[in-house]
Amino acid sequence: MCKRLLDDGYDVLCVDNFYTGNKENVLPLLGNPNFELMRHDVTFPLYVEVDEIYNLACPASPIHYQHDPVQTTKTSVHGAINMLGLAKRLRARIFQASTSEVYGDPTVHPQTEDYHGNVNPIGPRACYDEGKRCAETLFFDYHRQHGLEIRVGRIFNTYGPHMYPDDGRVVSNFIVQALRGEPITLYGDGRQTRSFCYVDDLIDGIVRMMRAGAEATGPMNLGNPAEITVGELAHRVVALTGSTSPIVHRPLPADDPLQRQPNIEKARKLLAWEPTVALDDGLRATIDYFRAVLATK
Ligand code: UDP
Ligand code: UDP
Repeated sequence: MCKRLLDDGYDVLCVDNFYTGNKENVLPLLGNPNFELMRHDVTFPLYVEVDEIYNLACPASPIHYQHDPVQTTKTSVHGAINMLGLAKRLRARIFQASTSEVYGDPTVHPQTEDYHGNVNPIGPRACYDEGKRCAETLFFDYHRQHGLEIRVGRIFNTYGPHMYPDDGRVVSNFIVQALRGEPITLYGDGRQTRSFCYVDDLIDGIVRMMRAGAEATGPMNLGNPAEITVGELAHRVVALTGSTSPIVHRPLPADDPLQRQPNIEKARKLLAWEPTVALDDGLRATIDYFRAVLATK
């Protein structure tokens, strides 16, 4: 996100508490005079001067966001309040990284934005799902009550270079396991589905939402509609890495959604946006990245 905005000619103030972020990812930007880095946690007030705000703060991997679930809810809810307060003082347009998790274990498939979701409010994923849902509530109330210009994007599973090897989500897990020759951990029977979007496609969708007019307020799904079972993903990763890793089964985590696929008609129509990177191409780029990272460890 930072790199894309710098490339587009903007000055960027990057705010991160590095709970899951990796400093090495912003290292190449530090020499850029248009880039500033600030260590800060959005659950605390932030007084800075900016023209627009992208609120992407929150761990997104189930193992990370369930490690300290109270802090996860605070990050989404207090973080949204502080960022909205900042946007209100500055009259700045603000983007919220919402999530396909607002749909929970969906009973409507593919998911359209008018579907209200099927979330267990007291389950282990609730800190993330309900935190992000409450953040959407806050965004729309600041929009209605204070006239803020908001953009709410519901981000579906995203992957790509610069993820942590121990991120814990499926794409990085499978690739790192395959490259290390370790067993590939398939949770459940592997018939659950996800739809994986390459990071550059997602960033382009976010930027288009911010540049578009009020019709792009959202909520708007941002994801790749190409749906695949997690079992098939394991086989693809094995084939693309040329790995000899066996696939082993592990229990399916509680409340793991059975199916997920975005309907992106809204983004197609309002942003002229759709993903352009096919899964195999994105996986190859991600595999190359992890191969280089693991070689230095
Ligand atoms: N806030 C912030 N930066 C600002 C303005 C506000 O972090 O530049 C925080 C502040 O901590 C406040 C929250 O945003 O609690 C919500 O701000 P708002 O103006 O909506 O509410 P109020 O200050 O009236 O509680
Ligand atoms: N998963 C898996 N093996 C892993 C990690 C995840 O089979 O090592 C499964 C997980 O149970 C889920 C899917 O892959 O069905 C996507 O999980 P992830 O944590 O990447 O994201 P989610 O969409 O569940 O938030």
